[in-house]
Amino acid sequence: MGADEAHRLHREAVKRCPVCRGAVNTAGIYSEGTKVALQHRKSHGGCPRLQKHYRGKPSLHPEALS
Ligand SMILES: [Zn+2]
Repeated sequence: MGADEAHRLHREAVKRCPVCRGAVNTAGIYSEGTKVALQHRKSHGGCPRLQKHYRGKPSLHPEALS
């Protein structure tokens, strides 16, 4: 497997939010000192990372990954 393919597969792998455990996609650029932005596949109101949706109380995502 070449580096390009590995990188592509890595980017498409399902990851979970460390806070609510919901499925997320990663966006942004992998580089030193840069945090990769997590984009929730489905928003919910219990994740402080979802600033637009957060209702003030953290809770697990309804479709949390184990
Ligand atoms: Zn979350």
